[in-house]
Amino acid sequence: MNSHDTWRVFVFRLGHRIERDKRVTTHVFLVARAFGAHGAFYSGQRDENIEESVRRVVKNWGGSFSVEYVENWVEKIKWWRKNGGETIHLTMYGLPLDEVIGKIRGSGKDKIVIVGGEKVPRLVYEIADWNVSITSQPHSEVGALSVFLHELYMGSELRREFENAKIKIVPQAKGKKIIRLD
Ligand code: SAM
Repeated sequence: MNSHDTWRVFVFRLGHRIERDKRVTTHVFLVARAFGAHGAFYSGQRDENIEESVRRVVKNWGGSFSVEYVENWVEKIKWWRKNGGETIHLTMYGLPLDEVIGKIRGSGKDKIVIVGGEKVPRLVYEIADWNVSITSQPHSEVGALSVFLHELYMGSELRREFENAKIKIVPQAKGKKIIRLD
């Protein structure tokens, strides 16, 4: 993220299932936060454990990342677009990332980045402003999201500092060093 970026980025995880998606959805949220997104939405089954574990991460590691459960994803996305935001759906069937990322970055619009679960409803492909692929091979929402955010922020997210952190890592060539800031 660059200081001149005026837009905000939220990740939307579709169709969460408490038992089967616990780990992957948590990883989607942690990657979203660590790679510079401002917050996340999710639909499917509400999972207060995941919400709580992300809140704990934010409390300790800083920043203001938020997670919001959305009952009706279609309404949310329509509302987002009506209010001037755009939506980017990550799918292996979409246009290659390197062909479109410049236009997405330069649009000046707030962004929702949609990642799917096991089965993605056809409507998502139609409702999204952009269907974007990170390779045309099947892989994972976590991998796709990481690469997308990295390209969107052009690597600036790698050096981001999180405000109000209680703990922070001091990078080491070997071993582990953590400092407490409170
Ligand atoms: N079979 C599902 C479908 O209907 O598209 C995809 C399942 S995949 C495990 C879960 C999610 O990972 C997808 O919805 C998509 O967001 C993301 N994903 C997987 N491969 C991708 C790729 N090559 N490019 C972009 N996103 C990808």
